[in-house]
Amino acid sequence: MKNLTEEQKVMLEMVRDVANREIAPLAMELDENSSFPEHARNLFAELGLLNPLLPAEYGGTEMDILTFVLVLEEIGRVCASTALLLIAQSDGMLPIIHGGSPELKEKFLGRFGGNSTLLTAFAATEPSAGSDLLGMKTRAVRKGDKYVINGQKCFITNGSVADVISLYAYTDPEKGAKGMSVFVVEKGTPGLVYGRNEKKMGMRGCVNSQLFFENMEIPAENLIGAEGDGFANLMKALSINRVFCAAQAVGIAQGALDRAIEHARERVQFGKPISHLAPIQFMIADMATAVEASRLLTRKAAELLDDKDKKGALLGGMAKTMASDTAMQVTTDTVQILGGSGYMKEYGVERMMRDAKLTQIYTGTNQITRLVTGRALLQP
Ligand SMILES: Cc1cc2nc3c(=O)[nH]c(=O)nc-3n(C[C@H](O)[C@H](O)[C@H](O)COP(=O)(O)OP(=O)(O)OC[C@H]3O[C@@H](n4cnc5c(N)ncnc54)[C@H](O)[C@@H]3O)c2cc1C
Repeated sequence: MKNLTEEQKVMLEMVRDVANREIAPLAMELDENSSFPEHARNLFAELGLLNPLLPAEYGGTEMDILTFVLVLEEIGRVCASTALLLIAQSDGMLPIIHGGSPELKEKFLGRFGGNSTLLTAFAATEPSAGSDLLGMKTRAVRKGDKYVINGQKCFITNGSVADVISLYAYTDPEKGAKGMSVFVVEKGTPGLVYGRNEKKMGMRGCVNSQLFFENMEIPAENLIGAEGDGFANLMKALSINRVFCAAQAVGIAQGALDRAIEHARERVQFGKPISHLAPIQFMIADMATAVEASRLLTRKAAELLDDKDKKGALLGGMAKTMASDTAMQVTTDTVQILGGSGYMKEYGVERMMRDAKLTQIYTGTNQITRLVTGRALLQP
């Protein structure tokens, strides 16, 4: 691992301060009311954090992946939903950044530059295509200078609030992976119909929507890259956003660990703080070890991705699996260390436990990430 640069250290300090002062105080309210983090959206736009990966030529911050990982950990430490807003924002832009023609980038990416508050979403999952994304049924048919799209997506983060959606659909289902394409869809397009916003276990401060496409017509120029490029584009975006999910999970776990240590020092039972008890010390030791190992693996994966090293995707999958399992274990142990208080909403750690669960599911479940990692290691 390289040392953090001065620039990265400054960014880390700035985001840590903003997270503590501006994001943390609202986390419980967002969870309680399932409300969208509008305050964070405006704040991030002011600070240039709402377009973290957008190239500078389009007015973006153009962070490297490692710097964004540092940002996500700090935000995730205090409010995982707010970190998810930033992850969805990058996920929606990545397909265009990776695959868009200069004209398409000009048309769409420029809108996100500077202090823009516009939002994006990444729409791949369907009711019949979750882990098996090749099973998607959404279909795009070329008609003259337009594509006509029919189908549906589900669980899409920012779905009903996004101004621009990167949408995956088959242009030629017979060809399987080589017949999938990806398009840019703008809010307000006739035929783009919003279904319900889901009621969720955790990450309640972000919007997850059903989207329906009913004879939705979009200009043919909104195709990202060429027909058939969609699946490769999807895999490339996924290999990067798994590291973002890992960073969010490390943040959740660190936030919980901090609360567990604080409580263990303060809570007195049998005449002394529970931090004096060996079983509590062992739990804290295991929690801290897992958090530190997850952080190192996540940062290493980010560094490899920044260096365009082929091992980046492999370590990214490992980091996602390890950090999310760690977040689940550490938040569960934190509830345990807080005892009955941990079970109460007032203390905020049960929220972390509910939030952590998503990190084992989205961007590919931990069964899928283990499968992908195992296959990559075992191929001759
Ligand atoms: C809050 C939230 C936000 C999301 N945001 C987005 C988004 O912005 N964009 C988007 O496109 N999607 C999004 N998703 C979808 C998410 O990526 C999928 O839910 C996830 O990939 C799992 O798909 P599934 O829910 O259909 O589960 P399934 O694929 O039905 O899996 C069910 C179970 O079977 C297991 N399983 C399936 N196949 C295998 C296998 N081959 N081997 C072993 N086990 C297997 C899974 O691990 C899981 O335990 C989001 C989901 C949630 C809950």
